[in-house]
Amino acid sequence: MRYSRMLIPTLKENPSEAEVVSHTLMMRAGLIRKLAAGIYDVLPLGLRSFRKFEAIVREEMNRAGAQEVVLPVIQPAELWQETGRWQKYGPELLRIKDRHGREFCFSPTAEEVITNVVRRDVRSYRQLPINLYQIHTKFRDEIRPRFGLMRGREFVMKDAYSFDADEPGADKSYDAMRKAYHRIFERCGLRFRAVAADSGQIGGAFSSEFMVLAATGESAVASCDACSYAANLEKASTRPPVGAEKPASPAALTRVDTPGARTIEEVTAFLGKTADQLLKTLIFVADGTPVAVLVRGDRELNYVKLQNLLGADELLMADPETTQRVTGAPVGFAGPIGLSIRVIADLEVEHMADFVVGANEADAHFTGCNIGRDFPAPAFADLRNVVDGDACPVCEGRLQLDRGIEVGHIFKLGTKYSESMHCVVLNDKGEEVPVVMGCYGIGIGRTVAASIEQNHDDAGIIWPMPLAPYHVALIAASPKDDVLAFAEKLHDDLEAAGVEVLYDDRDERAGVKFKDADLIGLPLRLTVGAKGLAEGFVELKRRAEPGAPFEPVPVADVVERVRSLVAGAMNV
Ligand code: ATP
Ligand code: MG
Repeated sequence: MRYSRMLIPTLKENPSEAEVVSHTLMMRAGLIRKLAAGIYDVLPLGLRSFRKFEAIVREEMNRAGAQEVVLPVIQPAELWQETGRWQKYGPELLRIKDRHGREFCFSPTAEEVITNVVRRDVRSYRQLPINLYQIHTKFRDEIRPRFGLMRGREFVMKDAYSFDADEPGADKSYDAMRKAYHRIFERCGLRFRAVAADSGQIGGAFSSEFMVLAATGESAVASCDACSYAANLEKASTRPPVGAEKPASPAALTRVDTPGARTIEEVTAFLGKTADQLLKTLIFVADGTPVAVLVRGDRELNYVKLQNLLGADELLMADPETTQRVTGAPVGFAGPIGLSIRVIADLEVEHMADFVVGANEADAHFTGCNIGRDFPAPAFADLRNVVDGDACPVCEGRLQLDRGIEVGHIFKLGTKYSESMHCVVLNDKGEEVPVVMGCYGIGIGRTVAASIEQNHDDAGIIWPMPLAPYHVALIAASPKDDVLAFAEKLHDDLEAAGVEVLYDDRDERAGVKFKDADLIGLPLRLTVGAKGLAEGFVELKRRAEPGAPFEPVPVADVVERVRSLVAGAMNV
């Protein structure tokens, strides 16, 4: 393809609205343009990457036995009312009315519609398992659309739904999808983790998230350096501590004045202690009831773990009045001694001794506090965030924390939708049973963006070969006739050999072409120069190795050299 014939509106400056590098680079490299908040035009170069990724997803879905369908984007309210999600989904669901006043929504996901497809035409367990998928537009009226395609309002998702006659079948379907997801992200050449995810309010259901590792990721991912254990922060646990030696003769409980010292930093500085010698007492209100939560002073409480433990719909930090009422002290001086509300503590707290706690009195703390003697042993549970270097919960390895971007989510749904929508089949005993479902999503645009978050440098994008819009950038570095004629022919020969080449035939200085080539980030760059050509070679460079010297490739070998480099980088 000739550059001069394409719409590739590159930008020299970073667009001011872009907060993350993938958004910046997708705008600058001319892949996308914004139409409205969270709504984007995908331009030719961007679409080529989308299509590459979609093709990989489609191949792996088909290989796993799933069948492609296309479901309506506009969906009738009645179906959503059957599952109660018309009410429950909230303002993320964009609702519309047709000219007759009938209510519809733009599909944010398609469990209702696909369940309707299956209940209408599937009668017997013999017709199962079925897995149906589509690669199609979704709309979610996100409260904060941001980061370009990463969190848009209109976006393309691959969504698959499996239907089985029983649990063991559903487990198999889930497992087939899990494997397909591994293959998809491996084929893209992305560094990723499959993590056990919190399935929150749905409770009991099992899900895994696929996270592309990138420093700018929105979520933290803990993974073991020795085994395959990986979990996101809401779920990650560490091996429970084994009893740190408790002192033979515990210190005496001593009240000390700590005027104005409320924070961990202030109290440790004042008392000459370290944060791990302090016990934090946090007061929450769970569905209206105050509860005290204890964690070691240097640890962070994980809010989701606490919410799951309490089974609370609403969990809030106590306001200052509530704190004063339940502890008798202003915020900053709460402690477990003498509290009359429910107290729960992180597992690690059980092994603490002679620690510092708030005195439930303004400007005072206790030192030398011990569980059992000074306050009753609370219930213990895993409540804190794991940190780098914590012990792996399943092997002898250590946990390592990375940032990740959720690009895919696989979910065991059970019979939640089939029961509310009466999607049943006859089993082998002739009994009517609800089908057991799973759902499996992948964000197309988000994955392409995540690949850029993971692979870029100051000059621009560094595409992995399987997602690159073209394989090779071809640049004629001189306007001389023989150089241009050679480049033209090389372009044709590469295309004939099945190599996707973007030939920069613009009437621009070589410097401009190199800059745009780096920004667009095609994996390979071929430069035809007057001197090299006279000596019988063209220059080959890899975008991922900007500092490396170019490889001079003899003119006669170029096509085969490039063809084999491309084939070798496809991860198939
Ligand atoms: P998030 O927690 O990021 O909002 P989600 O749990 O709502 O994601 P799912 O409903 O599991 O996401 O959707 C499946 C996939 O669709 C996600 O893994 C992600 O890749 C993609 N996706 C979800 N929301 C968006 C969005 N607003 N913009 C782009 N892609 C999205
Ligand atoms: Mg969401």
